[in-house]
Amino acid sequence: MLDVGYDDPDTRALIPAGDFLSLRRTDPEQSRYFVGGQISPEELAGVRVGAQLTPPRQFITRNVDTFAPIESSTFTAMQSLALGGLGAGWGAGTYSYNDQELDEVGLPAIDMARYYDEVAAEIGVAAPGEDDTSDEVTRFRPLLPPHSLDTNASVAFASYNRHRDRVRSLGLSVGRAPAAILSQPLQRGQFVRNENPYDDMDFYSDASRSVYRPRYTLEALLNESKVLYCDKALVRRFVPGAEMVEVHYTDVESGEDRVAHARRVILAAGAIGTSRIAMRSLGIDRSVPILSNSYSYLPCINLAMLGRPAKNRRHSLAQLTGVFVDNRRPDDKVILSFFSYRSLLLFKLIKEMPMPPQLGLLTARLLLSSLTIVGVHHPDRRTHRKTMRLRDANGGSDLEISYDVEDNERRSIETGIGKIGRALREMGCVPLGKISPGNGSSIHYAGAFGITTDRADILGTAPSGQLNGAPSVYIADSANWRYLPAKGLTMSLMANARRVAAAVCDGL
Ligand SMILES: Cc1cc2nc3c(=O)[nH]c(=O)nc-3n(C[C@H](O)[C@H](O)[C@H](O)COP(=O)(O)OP(=O)(O)OC[C@H]3O[C@@H](n4cnc5c(N)ncnc54)[C@H](O)[C@@H]3O)c2cc1C
Repeated sequence: MLDVGYDDPDTRALIPAGDFLSLRRTDPEQSRYFVGGQISPEELAGVRVGAQLTPPRQFITRNVDTFAPIESSTFTAMQSLALGGLGAGWGAGTYSYNDQELDEVGLPAIDMARYYDEVAAEIGVAAPGEDDTSDEVTRFRPLLPPHSLDTNASVAFASYNRHRDRVRSLGLSVGRAPAAILSQPLQRGQFVRNENPYDDMDFYSDASRSVYRPRYTLEALLNESKVLYCDKALVRRFVPGAEMVEVHYTDVESGEDRVAHARRVILAAGAIGTSRIAMRSLGIDRSVPILSNSYSYLPCINLAMLGRPAKNRRHSLAQLTGVFVDNRRPDDKVILSFFSYRSLLLFKLIKEMPMPPQLGLLTARLLLSSLTIVGVHHPDRRTHRKTMRLRDANGGSDLEISYDVEDNERRSIETGIGKIGRALREMGCVPLGKISPGNGSSIHYAGAFGITTDRADILGTAPSGQLNGAPSVYIADSANWRYLPAKGLTMSLMANARRVAAAVCDGL
């Protein structure tokens, strides 16, 4: 496995044991992990993609601008060269696609079912077996017992259940968020991951290992001697030969260029990274598709919580999930995630408020326990206005991305958000406005290739991931998905990667 694999165990180690409130009240050194060396001007300037990357997680985007540059005025992507990639900081929202979604993506539903189950057993997913959203979002087993909701979410969920018929008639169903956060210990070999301690430190600390991170799987594989891991290796391109594929990479520390050889290569460098490597290798210099879910969030006041205290005990990630269906487009499920706000700190809120900072601070303190952030993801389809292109496919590495939403897509997103706002009001959560951080901000990406049965299509792969332009090379991430459902894609990425790896092994 060739990986750049940046990590930052030192900043992780700075975080003492304790829950968020105790650390805020007692630790004189807390700024080192809560805000880092200093708050950057970009952080104060506005909502940026990845505002949720706290200091212990900032290694996730280290050196991306140098080694994986993107040129765009219409799209802000978050890429990673880290150990575990973006998954080193993901929010652990764990969703399966339904059959219609898998079909449109290009993935075989029958095969995927088995691999969803394998992934669920490997990473541990806490979710209810049955509620109003489970049929749609957790079509896999086993499930761990669901988590306790924090005070704000349990009040909102009670209100949803009281007004359930009315809210559902407006198209919105709500349930507990399925999450790869352990609600009971899970052991693999000598490695134990513990249940979540409800200390509200999930944006900073991995001490309990309750939130699944990809590095846990790698540790276990290394321990079982099932993988050879070569880090600091920036893969540039592959060159297919008669017997072997050459993989050209650069050691990012020494700057030395090196070559590895393999009978088969599985590419999984993130949709944008994989597209870049494959396009450079195949000399593709035309525009190719890119997909990214449209993302916006609705800061809401949960009226029944206004001025009421909230319990300290909580995890920091999404509490509830919503599935919104517009009757006119029943296949295009829109996905909502409900977060309560606290451990990401008030300064991030205050800078968004249209008032002087001191007044913003008072207002934020007053609203805090009732503040509910509802993130809204929409599905994304290919159009000729959502493209990426290598600037110089033969040598250079800059990738240009041009992303624009068609008028009809924009209208349907706006109409959907309006209807979601009405349904949220019905369950007592009053939206204060809508914040759109811009194209790319969902951090969910797919493109540039496509799963197809047309073996002549150079931008195509077989359903097994086998690349038409280089049959010894397989794509195992979302770089060949033709559609991006609104549900967080990562559970499906993990299931699909296992499926592709199994196909490669079968073919050897
Ligand atoms: C804050 C945050 C919250 C999120 N929350 C959720 C969520 O709740 N649910 C959800 O489904 N998704 C979520 N996501 C998205 C999720 O993290 C990504 O979908 C997922 O990590 C993508 O996995 P990937 O393996 O395809 O790519 P990546 O995570 O980008 O991993 C790419 C890997 O390839 C390596 N690599 C890249 N280029 C090269 C190269 N040239 N040479 C060598 N190695 C290379 C990198 O080092 C890295 O290890 C979130 C993301 C973030 C940042």
